[in-house]
Amino acid sequence: MKVHHGISASIGIAIGEAFIYDQHLHIPNYSISERQIEYEIHRFFVAMTKTKNELIQIQKKLIQEISEDQGKILDAHIMMVDDATLVDKICDTLRAEKRNIESVVFDVINEQCQELAKANESFFHDRIIDIFDIGQKLLQNLLYQKNVSLSNIERDVIVVASELSVSDTANMNKKHVLGFVTEFGGKTSHSSILAKSLSMPAIFGLSNIVHEISSGTICIIDSEKGLFIQDPDEKTLKEYQNKKLAENAQREENLLLSRIPTVTKDGFAIPLKANMEIPEQEIDNVKKCGAEGVGLYRSEFLYLSKKRKTLPTEEQQFLAYKFILERLSNKEVTIRTLDLGGDKVIETYTVKENNPNMGWRAIRLCLKNPEIFKTQLRALYRASIYGKLRIMLPMISVVEEIIETKKLIEEVKSNLQREKIPFVKDVPLGIMIETPAAALISDALAKHVDFFSIGSNDLIQYVMACDRGNEKISYLYEPLHPAILQLIAITIKNAHKNKIYCSLCGEMGSDPNNALILVGLGIDEISLSTGKLLEIRKLFQNTNKKDLEALAAQALTMSTQKEVNQLLLRYNKAHKNIKII
Ligand code: PEP
Ligand code: MG
Repeated sequence: MKVHHGISASIGIAIGEAFIYDQHLHIPNYSISERQIEYEIHRFFVAMTKTKNELIQIQKKLIQEISEDQGKILDAHIMMVDDATLVDKICDTLRAEKRNIESVVFDVINEQCQELAKANESFFHDRIIDIFDIGQKLLQNLLYQKNVSLSNIERDVIVVASELSVSDTANMNKKHVLGFVTEFGGKTSHSSILAKSLSMPAIFGLSNIVHEISSGTICIIDSEKGLFIQDPDEKTLKEYQNKKLAENAQREENLLLSRIPTVTKDGFAIPLKANMEIPEQEIDNVKKCGAEGVGLYRSEFLYLSKKRKTLPTEEQQFLAYKFILERLSNKEVTIRTLDLGGDKVIETYTVKENNPNMGWRAIRLCLKNPEIFKTQLRALYRASIYGKLRIMLPMISVVEEIIETKKLIEEVKSNLQREKIPFVKDVPLGIMIETPAAALISDALAKHVDFFSIGSNDLIQYVMACDRGNEKISYLYEPLHPAILQLIAITIKNAHKNKIYCSLCGEMGSDPNNALILVGLGIDEISLSTGKLLEIRKLFQNTNKKDLEALAAQALTMSTQKEVNQLLLRYNKAHKNIKII
């Protein structure tokens, strides 16, 4: 038995066998003799035929499952596999340099990608992704190394990986993945957020874990304590099996609270809404736990969760938004417009940047691509008649971004009117407060919108100059740091001064201690992952808002995070909230 310590990303216990997800190809490089040349070329042609057949199968599946058009996208890909120039270049290099075929394919593909990268036109940049992809597939076939997709997992496992991208996580087969652990990643990276939304235990920051463990080893995730137990002894296994039963029983008990609204002991309503990423998988949970609406639907997951190479059409988006609004017809649903960029990348639309979190993302990317943005806005307005829609803009840092968006909205609305397509005229428009600039000018911003929602995940990373996905500096990523509390207080004050409401939809709201401080600071509602919603509702029911106001006022006078924590410790002791200390 071995116990590893990491960063807790999503609470819960999982017990199962490990499944190592290793995406790296290890390319051998060795010299070959004259006699081996034809043999290596033969291997190359076999791998090429195999790759082409695989792509044809994928194309058939796309046509069956999505559409003829989606399938056609692979036409160019398939033709490229046996493109004469590429094949000649590989065979010529192999003959000239007398090296094994894998190392030659690897080098030639890399060279081609570098050549294309020099071109200025985006057409050539798109080809890089295709050629790279073909190169990977050829190499996998040459090395007999199959990159098992996490969506094809067919038995219950705990995934162990060096790192998981957002689309890896979004595409996991949720029926069989019990939880996951990784070497890299931070508490509020989007993979972690997804794990929470899907109530999947997860731990990050377990260095070297991929090399320490092999597939099939029984292991335990105890994410509350940040523990990953490899090969547990019998006593530990039994202990955790009992804990898991208790965890399930507690969840069932909490469900009793699902039908009542969230009101503090002294009568203040603090609606608790749900954050959502993959509606088809989450909406039943949102309803089951009695969320008082959806405070954040991260619409970019519509773009990320299907392995699409193109953006969804207006019709596809319209149907997706209509689905959520209809399923939650009597509740408010806040849909955030496209927040691509940072760690949410679609290679074809987001560009490689040195500093992606501070780069061309979210509203910045949308305003520079008005056709993409207007398609989404049109789909949203068309869907608006099916429920209580609210639209929210991400990553606002200047007033002009709102004004420009409003112009696009007017254009979209007048087109719909001309086409006699029904829509709700006064859909509330809100913004995320997730840059320090937005918090500081929140008084000015409030004059242009109907609501705020504090995006603490990004706000913390920008205020603390601390990458939210980097486990090495996670000690700095502190939601209760006085600088964060001051900015949250300013934002709420300015919202109320301008008679608009202020919500919070970052991960900090799902921590009981943070939630107490937020209510004390005057937050009007919190949007959080459904896994924690009922626990927080129970906490608020047993708490007086007046006490929390005094607590938050005191917290605002503190100069270190440690002092705030100690204050909370004293508060929880006095109020017997022992479990959340
Ligand atoms: C946030 O930044 O707090 C937020 C909710 O947005 P995201 O996590 O998607 O960046
Ligand atoms: Mg954000």
